[in-house]
Amino acid sequence: MNYQNITVAGSGVLGSQIAYQTAFKGFQVTVYDINDEALQHAQDRIAKLKPLYQQDLGVTQEEVDAAYARLTFKSDLAQAVANADLVIEAIPEVVAIKTDFYTQLGKVAPAKTIFATNSSTLLPSQFAAATGRPAQFLALHFANTIWKNNTAEIMKHAGTDMKVFEEVVEFARAIGMVPLPLYKEQPGYILNSLLVPFLDAAELLLIKEVADPETIDKTWMIGTGAPLGPFAILDIVGINTAHNIVEAKAAATGDENMKKLATLLKTEYIDKGKLGRATGEGFYTY
Ligand code: NAD
Repeated sequence: MNYQNITVAGSGVLGSQIAYQTAFKGFQVTVYDINDEALQHAQDRIAKLKPLYQQDLGVTQEEVDAAYARLTFKSDLAQAVANADLVIEAIPEVVAIKTDFYTQLGKVAPAKTIFATNSSTLLPSQFAAATGRPAQFLALHFANTIWKNNTAEIMKHAGTDMKVFEEVVEFARAIGMVPLPLYKEQPGYILNSLLVPFLDAAELLLIKEVADPETIDKTWMIGTGAPLGPFAILDIVGINTAHNIVEAKAAATGDENMKKLATLLKTEYIDKGKLGRATGEGFYTY
């Protein structure tokens, strides 16, 4: 493995998990965030991961403590990346914030440093020019609760060096992820490219009053052997997220069924506190 020193920029929900998982697998990790208050939150957040690792992975107190000891926290960007082989960016999903970050980072990081974005919905080509080193930039996208849901979608943009791409695939494997290489840019990567149209199709059957959620799920499960149907998956995704996706599509296309669906999700589910598994009720009761 070529990489030893990793910097994770942004220490929120995903950044804290990426940093801790990387340290857990033996790398030296620097956590960068905008100020000391954010870094204090990061320390609290990461400390809370320790018992989860013990519970879910059956590892010892010594192992989780040793992983924590491999973390360093810095709020000065130049210092945070001074010796970085790889910077993994997990800062807010806002184009202006990321563009500004990559412009600064490109100036202060050593020439050797590779940059990877964990963005869920933005494409690496949107920031490639701002990095000042497009060949050394790509997407490395994790899923929430990465120590259990250990997928890493690694996605090139047109200008990413193939050698860099392969190194990052190897790095993802080294930190315990299942690497999923994407050779071309694709909004939504692989998972959401499959899942979003699938969930849309199920919701359209409901809104057109073709069948009820239980029947639609049962059809899919018996027909394909899948353990869950689309409405059970929507309950896991959460009805708020489902509503945001449908509402954006309704606004973009003006489609009447999408508009009806957005209203249904809002009035019958969100307004009644039925947000899915997280609240104990969505399309199903848990
Ligand atoms: P979050 O809001 O929990 O955390 C963002 C962190 O970035 C905060 O600690 C904040 O202080 C910090 N930050 C803000 N501006 C910064 C800057 N200029 N430089 C450095 N740090 C800065 O966000 P999140 O949910 O962890 O999402 C971060 C990225 O990860 C997004 O691109 C998102 O699309 C992606 N992602 C999120 C999830 C998820 O389930 N939450 C899953 C996969 C990918």
